[in-house]
Amino acid sequence: MAVSPEITRFAPSPTGLLHLGHARAALLAEAAARRGGGRFLLRIEDIDTRRCAAAHVAAIARDLGWLGVVWDGAVRVQSAHFDEYAAVLATLRARGLIYPCFCTRGDIAAAAAAPHAGPGGAGRDPYGAPLYPGTCRTRRDAAGLLAAAVAHAWRLDMARALAVAGPDLFYEELAMGRVACAPARFGDVVLGRKDCPASYHLCVTHDDARQGVTLVTRGEDLRAATDIHVVLQALMDWPRPRYAHHGLVTDARGKRLAKRDRAATLAGLRAAGVSAEAVRAMAMAGVGL
Ligand code: GLU
Repeated sequence: MAVSPEITRFAPSPTGLLHLGHARAALLAEAAARRGGGRFLLRIEDIDTRRCAAAHVAAIARDLGWLGVVWDGAVRVQSAHFDEYAAVLATLRARGLIYPCFCTRGDIAAAAAAPHAGPGGAGRDPYGAPLYPGTCRTRRDAAGLLAAAVAHAWRLDMARALAVAGPDLFYEELAMGRVACAPARFGDVVLGRKDCPASYHLCVTHDDARQGVTLVTRGEDLRAATDIHVVLQALMDWPRPRYAHHGLVTDARGKRLAKRDRAATLAGLRAAGVSAEAVRAMAMAGVGL
């Protein structure tokens, strides 16, 4: 059967050096595009400008080049597109689907820990973050605080969003077929951060749509977040790509690799004299295809 051409992407955040886990993600995305004669894109997810560095962007290009990963077309750099993310926030705001949140992390932790914390106030989301207790959802002085330009985030009103998006939210996972979403377990997620007018969820979903990505390949650590992305796709009427979440590369003790594991960085392996071919094999070892 002919394989249909897919548009895939590798979307690293330049907060450190690429490691074997990134190599796996890049190789799988590239292979998925090449199989059907599609396109493989590189996107730099650098909205967190304090943690991202130009030196890391340069290292990403160098490491991918050494590994033999070749992307198509221009690289999209998210920090050059804050205006597009702000426009999405403005649309959601005009539709009453997001609200300004002036809470600090401390406020949220304290509210979540309070003995009288109501439904949603005591739980944690699938990534272990305390669920937002909803403090600012009905704040009457929000307009005044906004006018006074008090730093704030923008949160999705999840209950309203789900009422608009409808109950039947799902995505197609390549190996598993239809996966039902349960985004309510994330509560009112942040779509615009206090420190920049964007967020991971907003940018990744916007950009996948904007770039025409048809198959999102990424680590299974991001599988739960896909539920939020499906809500945004429904709200914004963006096309929904298919997904292929892959297993993570782990160390000898079975722990997933982190950017601080210097030994597993591509630059570190290269410096130690390991060939690109061997690194490709290490990155792909144990991947069930
Ligand atoms: N930028 C994300 C990361 O480096 C990946 C985003 C994605 O693939 O959806 O973990």
